[in-house]
Amino acid sequence: MVKAVVGANWGDEGKGKITDMLAQESDIIVRFQGGANAGHTIVNNYGKFALHTLPSGVFYDHTTSVIGNGVALNIPVLFKEIHSIVEKGVPAPKIKVSDRAQMVMSYHIKFDEYEEERLAGKSFGSTKSGIAPFYSDKYAKNGFQVSELFDDDAALREKVERVCETKNVTLEHLYHKPLLNPDDIMKELMEYKEMIAPYVCDVSLYLWNALKEGREVLLEGQLGSLKDPDHGIYPMVTSSSTLAAYGAVGAGIPPYEIKKIITVCKAYSSAVGAGAFVSEIFGDEADELRRRGGDGGEFGATTGRPRRMGWFDCVASKYGCRMQGTTDVAFTVLDVLGYLEEIPVCVAYEIDGEITTDFPTTGRLEKAKPVLETLPGWNCDIRGIKNYDELPENCRRYIEFVEEKIGFPITMVSNGPSREDIIYRNK
Ligand code: GDP
Repeated sequence: MVKAVVGANWGDEGKGKITDMLAQESDIIVRFQGGANAGHTIVNNYGKFALHTLPSGVFYDHTTSVIGNGVALNIPVLFKEIHSIVEKGVPAPKIKVSDRAQMVMSYHIKFDEYEEERLAGKSFGSTKSGIAPFYSDKYAKNGFQVSELFDDDAALREKVERVCETKNVTLEHLYHKPLLNPDDIMKELMEYKEMIAPYVCDVSLYLWNALKEGREVLLEGQLGSLKDPDHGIYPMVTSSSTLAAYGAVGAGIPPYEIKKIITVCKAYSSAVGAGAFVSEIFGDEADELRRRGGDGGEFGATTGRPRRMGWFDCVASKYGCRMQGTTDVAFTVLDVLGYLEEIPVCVAYEIDGEITTDFPTTGRLEKAKPVLETLPGWNCDIRGIKNYDELPENCRRYIEFVEEKIGFPITMVSNGPSREDIIYRNK
């Protein structure tokens, strides 16, 4: 069976922890989109880790970690990550990398930087990991697939020259930066070839066979619905689809195999980068939630940037869950709200004087004002609680209120950062 763990919102919902938890009962964990631009924070017996490329299941002996064809593969980052976990005593993970994955090249990162510099204040808040230039090249058919490293060298060289020619026009005339040299790019590719060779795999065939043998496969999404290039807050989105449906494409499995879609929603909101964020809060109120949030504060796992904070947004989350095709909601980081006497929740948007609970397209979203409803807080620490019925009444009310508003069943409640901090609800 295939399960997917994906985000309902802007990312940072706590997917890493849920994946790490579900990985216990999985054989294979697959990354199917995105790159090293976002990260998961995972706390386990070995320590605290920020993973950007490796799937969260790398900490188990029994799992195989797969980088699917849909991923923006940054080989040096992958190596650094493998090294950093092995260094802390984690057994060497079993890793397979799709021969159809494309590689993030050093110039993709440079192009990302140059573009941000050019756009200055009007930038998209890129993490400068080369993701947008990478996916642009992939779809413009200027990308390099892992398999090409193992084809004929002369053909590769020819392509490198063609790519350099195109890139150099932009470098010279738009960015006024140093040009690319085909010899350097060939050298870079040959280094990648050597590094990646032991891991290369026909991943779709591997997964096909694994599924035939009854293996449990977990797809791990990055970011969330609202960052999807089609269904998110375009253009303030990422460059690959963040939806569970894309898991079929980005891993190379039949869509009908995805039986469970676990959408992770955080009990409050946070976002990074630019873009409309209707339930956003500011000042001391935001600072306090940021400081108390997550596990050690709401700061980017990759960038260290302070996250923008807000109250739970039922409109965005209802939409985010619907676009994912949610079968189960995992409601996370609920323990953090224990300090509040009262908890505002965004239940609708007001746009041009009209109230709606349907998430709009970007232009209208920018005009939306939050309609807030205030719920009583529970004002105590809920960490350590294992049974739903033992949660304070106001806490259960909060969960059930959100569940009713978003219209998808909350079957898991996370009340702390570690694997054990989870309350299952039978629905
Ligand atoms: P991801 O990208 O969706 O995995 O999100 P992050 O890596 O930003 O995870 C959010 C943060 O919250 C991490 O630091 C987690 O360790 C932490 N976290 C996850 N679930 C919980 C929870 O239920 N309670 C608390 N306090 N922290 C959590």
